[in-house]
Amino acid sequence: MSEGLITAAYIIAAILFIASLNGLSSQESAKSGNIFGIIGMSIAIIATIGAMVNKGDAGSWSYVLVGVLMIIGAGIGTRLALKVEMTSMPELIAILHSFVGLSATVIGFNSFFDHEVLMGAAKTIHDVEVFLGIFIGAVTFTGSIVAYGKLSGKINSKPLNLPGKNWLNIAVVVASVLLLISFINGTMGGFELLIMLIIALAFGWHLVASIGGADMPVVVSMLNSYSGWAAAATGFMLANDLLIIVGALVGSSGAILSYIMCKAMNRSFVSVILGGFGNEDTASAGDQEYGEHTETSAQEVAESLKAAKNIVIVPGYGMAVAQAQYPVAEITKRLRAKGKNVRFGIHPVAGRLPGHMNVLLAEAKVPYDIVLEMDEINEDFPDTDVVLVIGANDTVNPAANEPGTPISGMPVLSVWEAEKVVVFKRSMGAGYAGVQNPLFFKENSDMLLGDAKASVDAILTNL
Ligand code: NDP
Repeated sequence: MSEGLITAAYIIAAILFIASLNGLSSQESAKSGNIFGIIGMSIAIIATIGAMVNKGDAGSWSYVLVGVLMIIGAGIGTRLALKVEMTSMPELIAILHSFVGLSATVIGFNSFFDHEVLMGAAKTIHDVEVFLGIFIGAVTFTGSIVAYGKLSGKINSKPLNLPGKNWLNIAVVVASVLLLISFINGTMGGFELLIMLIIALAFGWHLVASIGGADMPVVVSMLNSYSGWAAAATGFMLANDLLIIVGALVGSSGAILSYIMCKAMNRSFVSVILGGFGNEDTASAGDQEYGEHTETSAQEVAESLKAAKNIVIVPGYGMAVAQAQYPVAEITKRLRAKGKNVRFGIHPVAGRLPGHMNVLLAEAKVPYDIVLEMDEINEDFPDTDVVLVIGANDTVNPAANEPGTPISGMPVLSVWEAEKVVVFKRSMGAGYAGVQNPLFFKENSDMLLGDAKASVDAILTNL
């Protein structure tokens, strides 16, 4: 493959990646966005193998090894993608981020041990690339493993509050800068990399462990951003322009997404990326007594829906667990056919993945124009006859408006302002952040206890 052809392929792949991001920004164009991404990545892989052949410094066994590893990787990836439930997607993404971090770290060490003789500024630049690549990679690696643990419920989602945690973080940053200077000056002959690796692994772990359950959406997008920067650092080490571009695209779009999530949750971006810097140790309001709750039946809910004109459906993580989106879409269709105004209210962090609810509803063919964001629907609750809260909890919790809980300050859907609220869930337990929900005990709230899909199916038969 000629050099010119490889450069042209890299440019085309980069353009396709930008088109892919653009496509993924709206539901209507998301499919074509995915296709652009797949074509771009295929071109990138072929061109990179072409560049490897051109260099000619790899033995023929290297090509066999690359081929075998690609087949094994593609096999594992295909199996995972086919097997994974929508509810487990966030933890899959988190663990995939950890692979990017791990590869940046390994490539960093490889680049340290195996590079041509460098002098002066070129050597300094290479040392900085290696140091930063390993640092960002190691932080991403352990941070993503903790995120995986928290999202899959294997690690407690409560924030870890080590004494003087902010000072620990500052000490890590200062120590890393000193080690970098020492590494550039060759004081310890590269031993600095090993010390920094241990510090960075612990730092990544601590950063994510310090962030509480309700702030996890920001962590997921932040780790997405870190994995992009880790890839960009790898691109510098390997002198691969396309990897630098792709890394920067992922890094910056992840950072923008983190910022959007922070704004939606009324959190300080700086505080979250510094591992909950400045957060007070919040007491969980899980054990507070709010009085008696009222239970209802599918038949009663069906009667209320028949009498209602304005209906809002608020889905949450429980709808994903129950896979209730299909009967929910069916109820919507039937009620709309009866001339009722049915709309959906989506909280930006509902579910376990940015856009989680939108994906599920689109899958069940709910029309996009009745799916509204929190800011678009929040003012309409006082004029709503019935709100169906299907498996949502933290995102409709009025305790967020009070101080002293892990969700305090987070804007929520004010469903309690409607005439009647029906909450679909299996028990009176708390949501992801572990905060008891006073909504369940309000006079205009009824609990429809049971699996959300079974409950919605039962309503359908009574409609
Ligand atoms: P929550 O996770 O707060 O609550 C979900 C509720 O669904 C639970 O209370 C559970 O109650 C109920 N549920 C579970 N399974 C079923 C079922 N089969 N049938 C009926 N109900 C069920 O949901 P929200 O969507 O309101 O909030 C999302 C939370 O996740 C927020 O705290 C957010 O910060 C966090 N998060 C969001 C991410 C994102 O990117 N969107 C990423 C990571 C975390 P019960 O067990 O009683 O049935």
